[in-house]
Parts: sequence; structure tokens; C-alpha cells
Amino acid sequence: MTEGGSVTMIVRAAAIDELRRQIRGEIIRPADAGYHEARSVYNTIHNRWPALVLRAADENDVVTGVQFARSHGLIIAVRGGNHSMPGFGSCDDGLVLDLGGIRRVDVDPHRRIVSVAGGCTWADVNDATHRHGLATTGGLISTTGVGGLTLGGGIGYLARLHGLACDNLIAADVVTADGDRLRATTEEHADLLWALRGGGGNFGVVTSFEFRLHDVGEVIAGPIVFPLSADVVRAWGELVRRAPTQLGTILGLTLAPTAPFVPDAWHGKPAVVVIVCWTGPRDQADTVLREFDDLGPAIGQSVGPMPYPVVNTLFDSLLPRGMRHYWRSHIVPEMPGDALEALVSECQAVPSAASGVFFYPIDGACHHVSVHDSAFPHREARFAIGVHGDWWSRDDDTRGMDWVRACDAALHSRHSSGSRYVNFASDDGRSIVESAYGPNHDRLVAVKRRYDPHNVFCLNHNIDPDASVGGEDR
Ligand code: FAD
Repeated sequence: MTEGGSVTMIVRAAAIDELRRQIRGEIIRPADAGYHEARSVYNTIHNRWPALVLRAADENDVVTGVQFARSHGLIIAVRGGNHSMPGFGSCDDGLVLDLGGIRRVDVDPHRRIVSVAGGCTWADVNDATHRHGLATTGGLISTTGVGGLTLGGGIGYLARLHGLACDNLIAADVVTADGDRLRATTEEHADLLWALRGGGGNFGVVTSFEFRLHDVGEVIAGPIVFPLSADVVRAWGELVRRAPTQLGTILGLTLAPTAPFVPDAWHGKPAVVVIVCWTGPRDQADTVLREFDDLGPAIGQSVGPMPYPVVNTLFDSLLPRGMRHYWRSHIVPEMPGDALEALVSECQAVPSAASGVFFYPIDGACHHVSVHDSAFPHREARFAIGVHGDWWSRDDDTRGMDWVRACDAALHSRHSSGSRYVNFASDDGRSIVESAYGPNHDRLVAVKRRYDPHNVFCLNHNIDPDASVGGEDR
């Protein structure tokens, strides 16, 4: 399907009428008024034209949607929060299975678990669990979907203390490619649960996620802004090494925010922005946060007490719907000291306030899970690095993408391991998948062959069921 082209009517109208009768949710077709909104994805670089959008209202609708797509030979795009960088939440000529209407969150404060329906965002989860003084690791932006983030790994402020989002996943209800409903736990379909912990949307549609919860109430959090310098980044890397795991922090080489706590002369200038999120005892906060004074003189800071859900909204306004995005990622064993000067130099030309090179610590509790215990294999690495390019106009695509590629090259030329994080990857394809899953790739292929041998769920960082593994010839 080409941009602006007519959408071929692949499925007979009578079949669609019958589908409409079978579901509680909504069917949107190309001729319907809401089609353009329904087909669009968060990353507006992608512009796709599905034959149908099925907005599911419950698990039955998911089963019906999967069976319908299969019986009519339609490709399926599964959509949770719609934040996929490669735009996997829409497709040309196929069926978009939009889970955004399935949003239930049930907190069990006594068992300290939360059950989260497949279409929830992290705002839904954080708000519900916070009422009980509990939380689990989620993303840094409240509008990101629980589904995609968890299935790809899931890095957030609580990762050092409580592991990745996928490490806290203890059970999942899954609709398979055959339309069967399975529950994956450590006792039943344990191979499926293993694969869902980082292996992406390859294995079925998750209609419900169950996560472990932890005591997290009010936190001491906020941004500290420094002049752009490789030394600040190095010193922060050392601080993270020493810091207790109750300290969540990320660092971005980006632009200084236009905010009251930053002097006007610095607004929009290249800078280092560090976000801190202290979840430990209140009386230790000053001691831990004083360490940031050693990074050098700050331009400004706005750190203070806030409810945990609020820290997960600090970047929301920088990244509203409608922008164009191109992201690349690296996972590195250590702070890439020798690449920092080159990165700092590239970051003199950060394309927008939302763009930057961001460092996410994945040490502490992320290392308590071994390489083969979940599909996410990067258990000895200290940082995920996201090179995030985000802008508004199509006219800026070349400049933005070239900037991302230049930063990526600065990192890649010095770090030949080339490990990638699927959730921060705009690019798609075999090399990304292999560098993301490394030592777990063959086992993921085996699980894929068991649960989705015909690759019905192929719009994702795809585990190819026909890939040759362990030297076999297929
Ligand atoms: P969608 O586009 O809806 O889903 C992406 C893919 O995940 C789908 O194509 C499908 O294959 C699969 N999927 C989603 N839900 C389900 C389900 N219920 N069952 C089966 N498959 C499903 N990542 C981090 O680790 N930490 C962050 O802090 C973080 N912040 C981000 C902030 C922004 C603004 C953006 C755009 C992304 C961020 N990411 C972050 C990356 C994010 O984790 C991925 O983009 C992720 O894929 C988004 O999930 P989603 O459900 O919103 O997206």
C-alpha cells in the first residue's frame, strides 16, 4: 500500500459484518470516519494503511480477531501502547489488533502482585499501585504501553533495585496463533513465560500480565542540569557504580530544558541532564544526593519529594503524539569512556529538546538474573544507551536520522560487541534480532516453533521460526 493510495478491500463486507456481530469491541474500516486516527502510530515516520482495525474490548475479541485474520490470510499488527519505534502497531492491508480498550488493573496488596490487562499504559499501573504504596519497574514516560515495554525487557528508575519490568513478570495470559488461551507461569508453559521475559511480541497476544510489587511510595526525584562535558558523564558513571541500588538515575546528553530552575541563558543549549529518583530511606537521601555535587557545578536543579507516579511523567510533555522518531541502541559492559568525547561533540548538534544520547543503568538487581534465566540476555552489562532522535517535521528527517547514525557510529566503532536493546531500535531485521538476543536466540527460535510455527506474529523484532539453529540445516 502506498502513502495516500486507495486501500484495497481485501475482505468481503459480509465477512466484516459477521465479525462485527461476534465482538464487543469496534471494527474500523478505511471508509469509516475514524480510520486515519485508528491506523496511525505514535512514530509518525510510519504511515500504514490496514484493511481493518479491530479495537478489542476483551479477551474474546482478541481470540476472534486472531482467528479472523488467519482465516482471511491477513497479517496481524498487535498494538498495546502504540509506542513501537518501527511502527509495528500498524500494517499495510492487514488487521490491526488494538488492545488499547482493555485497560483493567487489579492490585492485590496482600500478595503484592498486580494484574494488568494487555492494553494498559504505565500511567494506569503506577496510579493504581501507588494507592497501596507499591510499584513495579515501568518506563520513564507514563504513556508507554505495558505490553511492548515489558515484552522487550523494560528499563526504568526501579531497575537497579527491582530488576527490569520483564524480571517482575510472574505470569501472563496469552492468546496463541491458533486462538488458544494459555496461562504462562513458572509451572505451566514455563518456556513461554521465559520467552515473554524479553523476547517481544513473537509468541502470542498477552491479554493480562501479572507483576510482583514492591514498597515504593514517595520518592526524592527530579533533574539536575550540568554543562555538556565528557567528564560529567564519566563521573556520573563512577557515582552509579558506588551508589546504593535505591538510587535510580539516567543521564542524557541533550538540551537544557526551558524551565524556571535553569537560567534563561542556558535554555535550549546543549547540556548534560541527569534525572535522579531516590527510593531509599528519607534520612539517607541528602547523603546520596550530595554525591552529585562532585560531578561539577550544576547549572540548575529541581530535585524534591514527589509521588512515584509523578517522576514517570517528567518527560511526558517533551514527547507527545505526532512527532517523528528515529532511535538506535547499544548495550555496553562499561561506560564507553573512549567514545564520550566524540558523543559530546555530536551532541553540540542535538536536533531537538526531546532528542539526545541517554544512559540507562542496568546493573544491581538486573544482574541477579542470569543470562539464560530470561530471554533478555544482557546480564553483565552496566548501561543501555539510547540514541534518541525526535522531531516534528518531515523536512528534518535527513538531519535527524544522520545525527542518530553519527552518534551510533561513534559508539559502534569503539564497541564491537554491538549488543542492542530491541525497545530502543527503530531498525528492524535479522542483525538487530541476533545482536539483541545473542546467546538466547536459538532457544527463542525453539519456543517460537512451538507456539507460533507459521510466524503469524511477525510484526515485531522477529524471531524467525525457520532460522537455522545450532548448525542445523533447514
Ligand atoms: P506498541 O507499538 O503498542 O507495541 C510494540 C510491540 O509490542 C507490538 O508491535 C507487539 O509486537 C508487542 N506488544 C505490545 N503489547 C502486546 C501485548 N499485549 N501482547 C503481545 N504483544 C504486544 N523502553 C524502556 O525500556 N524504558 C523506557 O523508559 C522507555 N521509554 C519510552 C518512551 C517513549 C516516548 C517511547 C516512544 C518508547 C519508550 N521505550 C522505553 C521503548 C518502548 O519500550 C517500546 O517502544 C515498546 O515497544 C512500546 O510498547 P507499546 O506497547 O507502547 O508499543
